[in-house]
Amino acid sequence: MLKRPILAANWKMHHGPTASKTFMETFLAGYQPREDRTVVVFPPAVSLTAVTWMAASRPDILIGVQNIHWAEKGAFTGETSAEMAKDSGASMILVGHSERRHVFGETDAQCAKKCVAAARVGLPFMLCVGEKIDQREAGATSDVVTRQLREGLAQVANLISADFLLAYEPVWAIGTGLTATPGDASAIHTLLRAELTAMIGTRADDIPILYGGSVNVGNAATLVAAPEIDGLLVGGASLDAGSWIKIVEA
Ligand code: PEP
Repeated sequence: MLKRPILAANWKMHHGPTASKTFMETFLAGYQPREDRTVVVFPPAVSLTAVTWMAASRPDILIGVQNIHWAEKGAFTGETSAEMAKDSGASMILVGHSERRHVFGETDAQCAKKCVAAARVGLPFMLCVGEKIDQREAGATSDVVTRQLREGLAQVANLISADFLLAYEPVWAIGTGLTATPGDASAIHTLLRAELTAMIGTRADDIPILYGGSVNVGNAATLVAAPEIDGLLVGGASLDAGSWIKIVEA
């Protein structure tokens, strides 16, 4: 089981192989292995190998891929399969990040197929769910996140174990500087765990639920200390190695 809290960096489309190496040099020098937390880095796919090499002597740091295609191989120009990501060093797969959903039009059905692909290669995967601002204002947050959860896991629910992770990332909080209050985030995490319990029974108890959305050096400790928040998924504030060290030490 992953040690909690789980602190995950999503670099989005930042840090190619050269910048990734520079980042990892600083990060590895400044962050020593700790028994009381798990650190994950999701670099762009082209930097997976470089980051994996840099972290080869640090099994405490997991490297993940930000997105996969559901097929094993084929005529899908520009895509990366779960098998290829694993071969490049990924030991975790991010599925359904809001930028995939709302910038690239990824559907719940496609997320479900990606979850199947992650299960096929035997890697833990982190499914992201979260409501847009209009959905929040319409009081639809619960409906949106439970639908994303149920539809995303539709074909793999029977396989779910503690290797599965969930991330609650309200879309209005991602990259905006707006953050859910710890209380609001806890409430949605509680709802998500109840929904997971309805789906898979007591296996839901062990599943980490991370919060993401404008986490920074100043708010990380408070958020991660809130009930039901088992870790953080961090975008912008994870791009600078110095900030990321402060967040993982929070
Ligand atoms: C993210 O990319 O998952 C994210 C939460 O971004 P940011 O921390 O920049 O809001």
